[in-house]
Amino acid sequence: MGIPVLDWLRLRQTGPATVKRLRRACEDRLAAFDIPADGDIHRFCAQVATRLGRDIDLIPMALRSTDPTGVWLSTRAGDYIVYESQTSTPHQEHIIAHELGHLLCGHIGDSLDGAALDLLFPDIDPAVLLARQNYSAVEEREAEVMAGVILAHLARTRRTTRTAPEDIARVHRSLGQVYPIPE
Ligand SMILES: [Zn+2]
Repeated sequence: MGIPVLDWLRLRQTGPATVKRLRRACEDRLAAFDIPADGDIHRFCAQVATRLGRDIDLIPMALRSTDPTGVWLSTRAGDYIVYESQTSTPHQEHIIAHELGHLLCGHIGDSLDGAALDLLFPDIDPAVLLARQNYSAVEEREAEVMAGVILAHLARTRRTTRTAPEDIARVHRSLGQVYPIPE
């Protein structure tokens, strides 16, 4: 399906200034959530779920390189993010961050069609599922910027915590020189 006229007009106006504004808006939205100390995206999802008071389950699934590589499912009971299991960890993290981006930005999208749902979740009644798909180009761009912001925060936190044990080890080494550990 083509891009709605209004979205197309908005996209045409998307320049560096708009992307910058979009990134700032995503940073603001993300500020409401804690970034886990270990920079783990699964833990981040758990923290978002706690903050929102809803369950968010991450479900790895062999989607066999079909499109999409990830789906956000919303039910009365909670949210599910299905992501491709047959791909690298960084790619999986990107897929999760992108779907989480849709969730955090409150995108609606269209419901995934029944046949696709049947394929993914043969045991679940499609009536209780709302699989978000077919977002507008503007929403896709927003989710992608949000994914980038999430991944950057997680990577930064991971870098910080990774250096900490090295610092501690260095202190231990220099302490060991001053106060040798008895054999
Ligand atoms: Zn998307």
